Amino acid sequence: MQTYNAPLREIHFALHEVLHAAHHYEELGRADLDREFMDSVLEGAARFAEEVVAPTNQPGDEVGARLTPDGVVTPPGFREAYQQFVADGWAALCGPEQFGGQGVPEGFGGPVGELLVSANQSWKMYSGLTDSAVLCLEKHASAALKDLYLPRLVSGEWTGTMCLTEPQAGTDLGLLKTRAEPQADGSFLVTGEKIYITSGEHDVAENIIHLVLARLPDAPPGTRGISLFLVPKRLLNSDGEAAVSNGVRCTRLEEKMGIHGSATCAMSFEGARGWMVGEPNAGLRCMFVMMNHARLWVGLQGLAQAERSRQAALSYARDRRQGRAARGNSARDQAADQIIDHPDVRRMLLTQKAFVEGCRVLTFLGGLQMDKARYHPDEKERARAEDLLAILTPIVKAFVTDMAMEVTSIGIQVHGGCGYVRDTGVEQFLRDTRIACIYEGTNGIQALDLLGRKVLGSGGQMARLLGGLIGAFCQNHAGYEEMTEFVAPLAGLLKEWSEATEQVAERAARDPDEVSASAVDYLQLTGYLCLAWCWAKMAAVAIATLRQGTDERSFYEAKIATARFFYARLLPRAEAHLDALQSGAGTVMALSAEQLG
Ligand SMILES: Cc1cc2nc3c(=O)[nH]c(=O)nc-3n(C[C@H](O)[C@H](O)[C@H](O)COP(=O)(O)OP(=O)(O)OC[C@H]3O[C@@H](n4cnc5c(N)ncnc54)[C@H](O)[C@@H]3O)c2cc1C
Repeated sequence: MQTYNAPLREIHFALHEVLHAAHHYEELGRADLDREFMDSVLEGAARFAEEVVAPTNQPGDEVGARLTPDGVVTPPGFREAYQQFVADGWAALCGPEQFGGQGVPEGFGGPVGELLVSANQSWKMYSGLTDSAVLCLEKHASAALKDLYLPRLVSGEWTGTMCLTEPQAGTDLGLLKTRAEPQADGSFLVTGEKIYITSGEHDVAENIIHLVLARLPDAPPGTRGISLFLVPKRLLNSDGEAAVSNGVRCTRLEEKMGIHGSATCAMSFEGARGWMVGEPNAGLRCMFVMMNHARLWVGLQGLAQAERSRQAALSYARDRRQGRAARGNSARDQAADQIIDHPDVRRMLLTQKAFVEGCRVLTFLGGLQMDKARYHPDEKERARAEDLLAILTPIVKAFVTDMAMEVTSIGIQVHGGCGYVRDTGVEQFLRDTRIACIYEGTNGIQALDLLGRKVLGSGGQMARLLGGLIGAFCQNHAGYEEMTEFVAPLAGLLKEWSEATEQVAERAARDPDEVSASAVDYLQLTGYLCLAWCWAKMAAVAIATLRQGTDERSFYEAKIATARFFYARLLPRAEAHLDALQSGAGTVMALSAEQLG
């Protein structure tokens, strides 16, 4: 079984040394979230992740969630770990204080979440959407609904779901058919079929609060006619206790490629009683609060699985001996050298390291914008952070999860045949991470969101905001000779990206296919630009720390060497995306649907 070691030193580096989280919270009036506080929370979370959650990961994959006549049964250990998660207060960490939460901002929930997801993504998914549901209800529900439901969602005693997808309505939610009939008492009866509902039914908590998209009888067609409803699995009695069954049933559990421990449910709503959240026909807008939060979390899932795979590959490469390395680095008294001595294996391990550490900074950076957008005292700063978060969200969701596919695949490759057979457990990381490229809006849809809605939809303003931050970094570091090897290529790529953004906007104005045909290459190009920025930031910290003197020379020297590897070996991929992007939609649309074969 794979062991998991929480990468606390790496998280400290990203959070404190690169992103200055304590200063960030001080600016938001939360000086109580100092480094000491954050580190003690992270240490506790690391222990919980390593000791309680991680041992459930591989058995959870083997046994999976099961639908029985008594309902959905989660794999061995899931329920107990969840109960400890609630009892120890982890579920309430980021919940609003007004409803019994500990009021820690969501951005800091990211690093804590990384540890728990690395330990067992399927297990973490039972609480994952609850946090998003809390945010949505806090913002859009009536005071009465908040009082009834938020305290137990915040504590984790109840969990939340997000019920959007129907057989005919996946990406295109405008096609959804679930109906909501108004009742004389102000409630609604919700009827319809939802599919692929994460944690739609399970045994880890006594009640499940479904947030369901449905149509009112007089609703206009398409996305303008969708409303949001809160539908509990069990209706509450006059004491607010979950008492009576509502008309909601899990009719099927999906058999999946990965995340076997997570119950993915087909749900039947059969005149289930629900209450409207937000205004009639404004359900999709309300749901976006939940979806945007969940999208950053999906990016975090990619990071967490990639870290897990990286740890396994590194440990195996130090252990496995095959062949002689060209330089013969290992002991000659052994019949063969460690595979870590072969340059090609080093290339694979460094690719994993460079992607994981770079994406950690990028993902945490996105999370911190969430806090700034919500809590910064200055309205202008809040609006700026909101825009930065808006442009970073599809990048974190799609770039980081695509990166995780490559990293978890490399993890298998480093193990050779052992990686493909199940015993080592590394193929689970790839299977579990694959879904992250699909749910919460496929990565193709994230790319459309980035280019179409965010960049072009803001008239280029959001791109200028991101470009401005990277440009300012380049200017601030232009005078430092040791940084030239990073700043010069970063500034060059920024210029190319800015020009490409303008060109694609011009082409999109002439050709309606241009946005969709260019979007994925644009997102990848932007992702590499952001990662180059993150690696330059890390290199700057490492250079400054080494100059000041440190007893961790090896750690910081490794950061600079990894930054060099990223710039030399991975960043050139950005140019391929730039070329593809600049070639336009013509070749993509040249064949008719029939000619595709
Ligand atoms: C394990 C799992 C858990 C899930 N959990 C939940 C959940 O909790 N709640 C929930 O509501 N849903 C959930 N989903 C559903 C998930 O969000 C959808 O599968 C996803 O949004 C894609 O929808 P679809 O499967 O219908 O694919 P489709 O929409 O049919 O897409 C098929 C392909 O076409 C592309 N495509 C579609 N439209 C366009 C377009 N306009 N432009 C360009 N390309 C396009 C897509 O990118 C994709 O490649 C889950 C799914 C799975 C498998």
